[in-house]
Amino acid sequence: MAKTLQAIRGMNDCLPAQTGIWQYVEQILRETVAQYGYQEIRMPIVESTELFKRSIGEVTDIVEKEMYTFDDRNGDSLTLRPEGTASAVRAGNQHGLIYNQQQRLWYLGPMFRHERPQKGRYRQFHQFGVETYGLAGPDIDVEVIALSARLWQAFGISEQVRLEINSLGSNAARLAYKEILVAYLEAHKDALDEDSQRRMYSNPLRVLDSKNPDVQKIVSSAPKLQDHLDPESAAHFALLKERLDALGIAYTVNPNLVRGLDYYNATVFEWVTDALGAQGTVCAGGRYDGLVEQLGGKSSPAVGFAMGMERLILLLTELGLTDAVRAPVDIYVTALGDETAAYAQKVAEFCRDNTQLRIQMHCGGGNMKKQMKRADASGAKVALLLGATEMTEATVTIKYMQGEVEQSRCELSALPAQLQDYFN
Ligand code: ATP
Ligand code: MG
Repeated sequence: MAKTLQAIRGMNDCLPAQTGIWQYVEQILRETVAQYGYQEIRMPIVESTELFKRSIGEVTDIVEKEMYTFDDRNGDSLTLRPEGTASAVRAGNQHGLIYNQQQRLWYLGPMFRHERPQKGRYRQFHQFGVETYGLAGPDIDVEVIALSARLWQAFGISEQVRLEINSLGSNAARLAYKEILVAYLEAHKDALDEDSQRRMYSNPLRVLDSKNPDVQKIVSSAPKLQDHLDPESAAHFALLKERLDALGIAYTVNPNLVRGLDYYNATVFEWVTDALGAQGTVCAGGRYDGLVEQLGGKSSPAVGFAMGMERLILLLTELGLTDAVRAPVDIYVTALGDETAAYAQKVAEFCRDNTQLRIQMHCGGGNMKKQMKRADASGAKVALLLGATEMTEATVTIKYMQGEVEQSRCELSALPAQLQDYFN
């Protein structure tokens, strides 16, 4: 027997049993960004390797060890996108969307990182993100945070996620702070793990968000970036907090929140949950005012976030918040005999013409018992039973699959209204 082939480790099929919840989540995302007047942008999945190296930074987890990079047939180095921001900036620069303009964009799609697959961490995963350009904030920072908060509300998980914010200051302030931090870390070098010892020089801020408890202990007494902010970033951060307060969006300031990518400055934030173990960050973002210029465009302020779809869906599933996911079938139409089957198919189309309900027609004939078994399995709440009598009378028998309501006969012309009533 031929060997059955398997999907690539960490790259998952989304099977019919799950696509319902994905569609539900996507619909809420689309409706919510529309409420804020954001427009969708779709970027290619493959970009030049250079793009990610120049934007994300050479000394980051992503570029050091997570990218799917390969040479194409021309020998050009290409990479499956590990995130969306770099591509959005590249596209914005290339098509003149950013310079001298204001943009509020969103995207949704697969990202690729060669990580160790585990719950909430995959090699192909999906991010929903927003990116804004030409707005210096902090009003727009607050807007994107409010947008994300509205999403949690729509999904019913506001109580399960909390907002952490920080300011990384200007590039100059951060550079000055890095020296102070490195001096402190050098003095505690022996207590740091190998990773942190290496990063201490190449990317010292990353030592601050080390997950190693021993390193965290050292870090907790380190000089704080908060105390070394430039006046402009400090004012920006103060106003950001004030505006969040005014909107009633709760947050904690986490001085060790630095984010894993190089391009951030000033505002950074994460939405975290305790319900998913180590993979607790559901959504992360911040300001990246230097990136547009760094990628060859004219300087423009920018702020955005990215949300992990799988982590959000895991959270909804674990909390049992999936009632709003629509069943694939509302109504199952059965028919006894070949002639009635033709009538039944007409009835099904008539219902589709006149309702928004999801109607599945029994195909392949068979006796009533067999057809009702299919009706049951479909999950439909209503079955329409059609026989010779119904066909001659131009009526339909309605059988309710749940509850105590008796089955009843109804004029075909009155059927759509009656069904719509039942499902409302
Ligand atoms: P982590 O610290 O968990 O590795 P990250 O800082 O690498 O996250 P970002 O690059 O900020 O993550 O991506 C934004 C969001 O995308 C994360 O908060 C998470 O929800 C999701 N995400 C990132 N990597 C993965 C992955 N490998 N599998 C599933 N979701 C992911
Ligand atoms: Mg990561």
